[in-house]
Amino acid sequence: YVAKRRGSGFTVYDPSIDKSSQESLSLLSELRRALDRNEFLLYAQPKVELATGKVVGAEALVRWVHPEKGFIGPDNFIPFAETTGFIRMLTSWMLNRTAILCAELQKKGITLKFSVNLSTRDLLDQDLPTHFADILTRNQLSPSSMCLEITESAIMDDPIRAQLTLERLHGMGVELAIDDFGTGYSSLAYLKRLPVDELKIDKSFVMNMEHDADDAKIVKSTIDLGHNLGLRVVAEGLETLAVWHLLKQMGCDQAQGYYMSKPMPGDRFIEWLEQWKAPEMPGQSENMAI
Ligand code: C2E
Ligand code: MG
Ligand code: MG
Ligand code: MG
Repeated sequence: YVAKRRGSGFTVYDPSIDKSSQESLSLLSELRRALDRNEFLLYAQPKVELATGKVVGAEALVRWVHPEKGFIGPDNFIPFAETTGFIRMLTSWMLNRTAILCAELQKKGITLKFSVNLSTRDLLDQDLPTHFADILTRNQLSPSSMCLEITESAIMDDPIRAQLTLERLHGMGVELAIDDFGTGYSSLAYLKRLPVDELKIDKSFVMNMEHDADDAKIVKSTIDLGHNLGLRVVAEGLETLAVWHLLKQMGCDQAQGYYMSKPMPGDRFIEWLEQWKAPEMPGQSENMAI
């Protein structure tokens, strides 16, 4: 404090800035330590095919169990991790763990497509494609057993390099999804140009579509847009059976959401799979009678 005063009298001393950069430093070292001490957890949330109710995939989502602060959700550390190089180490950890879970299920005869989220920094990482190829080989997984989710804003950051990375990944046979579609500063031109397989409609449009006619129209138009471009369309944020029916009527391919299940740790996810029963579909029995 005294040192600051000795400098130029006009220096603005903002203790909050000092404090927050110190906090950032300690958060970064805590994150690094968390990897060493195995404090991260892989959670998985099922994705179902709406026409049949069959579980066809899962999204891998990270959680942090901090020794003092307890359970921390990704929104509280991913944005920070993205501003540092740390996100690349976390992504690598997630790809490894997800591949292990995916391979474990395949050995039990359960074939699900697992998705992992990538961030901007990952798309600028030239080594990601070969690194991921190694992970797949080590786990004896075909590239198409995994899917990588990217957001529109991650692509917009450096579209040319992002496109290059995505083309290399896609060339390997890895599937790609556009996440949170509709919330970024979307450019339909990128949707056309990038080698994507899946479009995920953001949950903010899906959660209330039963009560909000505009949301329902946005969802329906997005499903049609995705299908017209030859993409698989997935809705996130399916919380009620009514929304299931609506999405199914609209021709949406798959969904994930709290109605089926919240994200769960790997072992609980496997138990959940064993007890999952698709809801009865009105109209299904009539169709069968014909
Ligand atoms: P996301 O990739 O869009 O993941 C979907 C989020 O929606 C998850 O939140 C999930 O729990 C939540 N969700 C799913 N269904 C429902 C529902 O029916 N209702 C409600 N209210 N929410 C639902 P989560 O796990 O908190 O993750 C938040 C975000 O953090 C993710 O959004 C993703 O952007 C990021 N994230 C999570 N794990 C990772 C990771 O390993 N790497 C990176 N780069 N980002 C991650
Ligand atoms: Mg995602
Ligand atoms: Mg999403
Ligand atoms: Mg999201």
